[in-house]
Amino acid sequence: LRNKAEMSSRLAAVGEMAAGIAHEINNPLTGVIGFSELLLEREDLPDDIKANLKIINDGSQRAKEIIKRMLTFARQTTPQMSRVNITELINHTLELRNYVLATANIKIVKDYDATLPWVVADPGQLQQVFLNLIVNAEYAMKKAHDKGILTIKTEKLDGYVRISVKDDGPGMPEGIRKKLFQPFFTTKEPGEGTGLGLSLSLGIIQEHTGTIRAESEEGKGTTFIIELPIASDTDKIAEITPEAEPPRSV
Ligand code: ADP
Repeated sequence: LRNKAEMSSRLAAVGEMAAGIAHEINNPLTGVIGFSELLLEREDLPDDIKANLKIINDGSQRAKEIIKRMLTFARQTTPQMSRVNITELINHTLELRNYVLATANIKIVKDYDATLPWVVADPGQLQQVFLNLIVNAEYAMKKAHDKGILTIKTEKLDGYVRISVKDDGPGMPEGIRKKLFQPFFTTKEPGEGTGLGLSLSLGIIQEHTGTIRAESEEGKGTTFIIELPIASDTDKIAEITPEAEPPRSV
């Protein structure tokens, strides 16, 4: 299990690497663009210098465009849709973190709806989202009190399923809650977080025509809530891989 946990962390790290590099380049580039623009506004500069500044500005704008595209690419491989048993997917994801959760004294509570229906989704992408939420919860609880309770709840509602990932970590003030899903927003030390986990997760959930939001209370903890539509229309059924097995109950 230790190897599995390491593997999952490494996979996540590789997935975020391109984006991380993009971020590193983006910072100095923003300076180059900003200052070349400032200089271009000056009226006391000779034309030849202005022409050179224009080249600097155009070049850096182009580099910025390339980075933007790279980020979009890092996040979007075409989803491979199939029927997904959410319960199994969550259990599998938890297994990857079992070792780390146990050594951090984090208890896992599974509050599953045994009648949860299939959703049509890309299982790899959904797993990435659950992994992000679990790793974030783990980090928050570890930091707050070196132990904790991670509660994962699934519910069948009218036309959709709801998955809640709840921790009893430190929670967060509104100022942070508002910025959570912004790319590169992080409160972690440099090298510990890229601030991309939640923005990538949001992108994935939106591609699945679902929603993701966070409820948080300072000193009490945080709950991330994902809602995904249940496949019912024939369009979606057509996307299903034929070899999919029927869902098993918990
Ligand atoms: P990263 O984990 O690299 O910082 P994320 O996008 O996954 O990037 O998260 C952004 C920020 O949201 C974190 O730095 C943290 O401040 C906050 N956050 C995310 N999940 C939690 C949580 N469960 N409890 C408290 N804060 C959280």
